[in-house]
Amino acid sequence: MPAPGELILDAPSRGRPPRHLMDLTGEQRRAAVTELGLPAFRADQVSRHWLGRLEDDPSAWSDLPADARGVITALLPPLLTQARTIDCDAGSTVKTAWRLHDGALIESVLMRYPDRVTMCISSQAGCGMNCPFCATGQSGLTRNLSTAEIVEQVLAGARSLQRGQVAGGPGRVSNVVFMGMGEPLANYAAVINAIRRLTLPVPEGLGMSARGITVSTVGLVPRIHQFAQEHLPVTLAISLHAPDDHLRDTLVPINTRWPVAEVMDAAWAYAEATGRRVSIEYALIRDINDHSWRAEMLADLLQGHLVHVNLIPLNPTPGSKWTASRPEDEEAFVGVLRRRGVAVTVRDTRGREIDGACGQLAALS
Ligand code: SAH
Repeated sequence: MPAPGELILDAPSRGRPPRHLMDLTGEQRRAAVTELGLPAFRADQVSRHWLGRLEDDPSAWSDLPADARGVITALLPPLLTQARTIDCDAGSTVKTAWRLHDGALIESVLMRYPDRVTMCISSQAGCGMNCPFCATGQSGLTRNLSTAEIVEQVLAGARSLQRGQVAGGPGRVSNVVFMGMGEPLANYAAVINAIRRLTLPVPEGLGMSARGITVSTVGLVPRIHQFAQEHLPVTLAISLHAPDDHLRDTLVPINTRWPVAEVMDAAWAYAEATGRRVSIEYALIRDINDHSWRAEMLADLLQGHLVHVNLIPLNPTPGSKWTASRPEDEEAFVGVLRRRGVAVTVRDTRGREIDGACGQLAALS
C-alpha cells in the first residue's frame, strides 16, 4: 500500500544504474553468479574480496580461475566516477563529488577524528524537500540512488583509508551518516538495503555496527513508523530547525503535511521501539530561529524524552540572506536547553572552508 505522500516523494526514473554485486543479497549473488555460468560458491569468494578485504581489482583475485575473474566484472560495473575531491583540516576531511552513470552528481565526505572516522553519504541525487537554507534543496530532485550507489560511497572511503590514502595512516570507517544529498526516507527501500549491506557480517555485508549509523530525515512520519519496525539499532536524526509549526512550515516545507507534533510522536515511537536516543538537528539561523523564547519552546517539546540536540551553526548558501547566529545568541540558546536538562552539543563545522556541508560541492562542480 503506498504511504501517504508517495506521489510527491517518488523520484522520476532516468534509467536504472547497472546492476551491481552490492545491490544483491547473499542469496541473489549466488543466483547471479550461477546465471553467469560460475558455481554458486564463487559469490561468497567474490564478496569476501569486495567487502572483507576491500579489494576492487578482480584481476588480482588469485583464488579465482582467470576466466572467472573476467566473467565476474559483469557484476562489478563502475558506478561512481570521481568528479572532484578536495580536502582540508590537514587532509583529515575529504570531500568527493561523484558522477553517476547518467551524469548525475552526488557527494560524500570523510571526516577523520582521533577516535572515529565518519562518512557522510548521499541517498539521492538532489533532493525534493526544498528546505530554503539547504544548497541541495535549491536544485530539486534528480533521482533516487540505487543500493549499490549508496554502499559504494562508503566502500570508496573504506578503501582509501585501508590503503593509507587519508592523512593519519590506515584506518576503518566506524560511522556513517545519511546527511549528504537527499532525503533518505524518500528512498526507503534502497536505504534500508544499504544499511543491511553495511551492517551484516562479511561476506554478506561490511560488518559495521548499526549503532554507528545515523539516518537524518525532514520527518516523513509514515516512513519513520515503518523504519521503527525494522528494529535496526540505527540512530534517527530529525531535522527540526524550529519547535513551532508557523516557522517550521517555512524552514522545512514538508511540515505543512506532517507538522511538528506528529513528527515528534513518530520520533518517540522510534526511540521506544529501538531504545535509541533520537537526535534533533537544529541549524541556528541569525534572528530567524535562535531566540531564547524559541529555545524554551524547544525545551517544552523535548524535556523528559530520550533525545539529544545537535545545534548546527548555519552554513550560508551562496546568495542566501540568512547567516549563522551571533555567538552570544548561540550561547544563550545552549544555556536555555542545558538549564532545562536537555542534552545538547554544538556541531563542529568541519570542512566549512571547502563547503563541506550540505550539497555545496556537487553544486560547484
Ligand atoms: N534530507 C535529510 C538529510 C540531509 S541534510 C534531512 O534533511 O535531515 C543533513 C542536515 O543538514 C539536515 O539537518 C539539514 O537540515 C542540514 N542542513 C542543510 N543545509 C544546511 C546549512 N546550509 N547549514 C546548516 N545545516 C544545514
